[in-house]
Amino acid sequence: MSDDEIREIRPDSDPDEYEKVCYVCRRPESKAGRMIQIQGDFCICNDCMQKTFDQMSNMGFNLTDMMNNGGMAFNPNPSQNQTPSSDGTDAKTADGTTEGNGAEASGQDGASQKDNQGAPRMGFPNISMINLADLQGMMGMAQPRRVKKKKEKKDEKPAIELKDIPAPHVIKAKLDDYVIGQEYAKKIMSVAVYNHYKRVATEHMDDIEIGKSNMLMIGPTGCGKTYLVQTLARLLNVPLAITDATSLTEAGYIGDDIESVVSKLLAAADNDVEKAETGIIFIDEIDKIAKKRNTNQRDVSGESVQQGMLKLLEGAEVEVPVGASSKNAMVPMVTVNTKKILFICGGAFPDLEDIIKERLNKNASVGFQADLKDKYDKEENLLQQVTTEDVRQYGMIPEFIGRLPILFSLEALTEDMLSQILTEPKNALLKQYEKLLALDEVKLIFTEDAVRAIAKKAKERKVGARALRAIIEEFMLDIMYEIPKDDDIGIVTITADYIEKKGGPIITMRQSAGIAAQA
Ligand code: ADP
Repeated sequence: MSDDEIREIRPDSDPDEYEKVCYVCRRPESKAGRMIQIQGDFCICNDCMQKTFDQMSNMGFNLTDMMNNGGMAFNPNPSQNQTPSSDGTDAKTADGTTEGNGAEASGQDGASQKDNQGAPRMGFPNISMINLADLQGMMGMAQPRRVKKKKEKKDEKPAIELKDIPAPHVIKAKLDDYVIGQEYAKKIMSVAVYNHYKRVATEHMDDIEIGKSNMLMIGPTGCGKTYLVQTLARLLNVPLAITDATSLTEAGYIGDDIESVVSKLLAAADNDVEKAETGIIFIDEIDKIAKKRNTNQRDVSGESVQQGMLKLLEGAEVEVPVGASSKNAMVPMVTVNTKKILFICGGAFPDLEDIIKERLNKNASVGFQADLKDKYDKEENLLQQVTTEDVRQYGMIPEFIGRLPILFSLEALTEDMLSQILTEPKNALLKQYEKLLALDEVKLIFTEDAVRAIAKKAKERKVGARALRAIIEEFMLDIMYEIPKDDDIGIVTITADYIEKKGGPIITMRQSAGIAAQA
């Protein structure tokens, strides 16, 4: 069978929904005909069974005897004539006869199995019987092979319907609820996503094929790149896989194969190939696979990875293992088409600013408009002026950049933005702590100055919004440790002084809080 016909493997689902697959040739019931159930979920098709018998007949084995005995195995030590008991344990006596625990010692075939001299049960050497139940234990590690029955064509509905795609302004408005600032990035992403899913939905409608909207986003660490993509995928209800480009290497080298990103997406889509094919793959730290400069060695984790990703980005059929990150004989494979998968690459590109600065200086240093050389040194958001040429100079190969047509950058977070991130989003950090203490019936209040002081401290750490949580954890530790000790505490007010370690929080007892409330 061709692997794209494997739709889904989910052992806990309705058995009627799934076809059995031959354990040997991997064809499903619909192709190979009726299956012979060997044990549990392991089946073998008639053809493979016949082939096995034919081969054994050619070797001169007596198949009828073997069938009667339930199976065969090669005995590596012919001097020990052993036969298993029905529960798989072997018991041997000194003269080579076998003491089973009941089933085989008695019964109709017991006599034919052993001759009077205690010889092995069958007439061919080096062969002993095994219990197929033992095999089950060995195979238990492997996934049962069943594939979802292919749906009738006429029932097939596209995963995303044209009318269901929210308009770009709606997508952006929803992103606004969670992501602070980054207006340009939100706008460009909303339009790109809208176009991408429109393309996915109209694929079969006409001949004009709309190009893919893969994106390359550049922004300093902690400015919300991953968060934007995560929020987007959640809002659109599409599966999302996030990978670090640093872990990828050219196939055959230590590290993850490039195709493992598709495996991850398949896992995120519950092994539903159709769902995975409309998902989003976010590859973070993409700047780390830039071409290494001045190297004579093979660049297995840099340029080669970029090369390897080209076909994925463009759209290709890739064979990926189901439920595992590496290919091996025991895992079933499926074919996933990456044509409809949206790829978003992100990275901080640390020295890119220097390249941009150099370019801008070069442009500005000729003719009448000559500028001072250090004009751009203090500019924080130089990244906004990035062009594909800068990215190419950084070490990304032109073919790679060409497959990521939407290039944009995110702003570095300002103190104001950090303050907003603390208080405004739907699941803002401070709201989370307020809720945590509310469970102990204590009201937590952050003064405006305190919020600003936290933002200021975070800004100094230069890791964007990532610093916020660490700072809050530091000063909340004492509060969360002490408050549950005293049931009388009603309100805790965090002040800027407390954040700056110049004083403590203001604690209000329940009684006075009640009086204050009444007043
Ligand atoms: P990076 O840009 O390095 O991928 P992340 O997206 O992982 O950074 O950001 C880390 C955390 O900071 C997120 O989980 C999110 O809570 C918060 N954050 C970052 N930027 C924003 C933003 N613009 N609005 C709201 N939260 C943000």
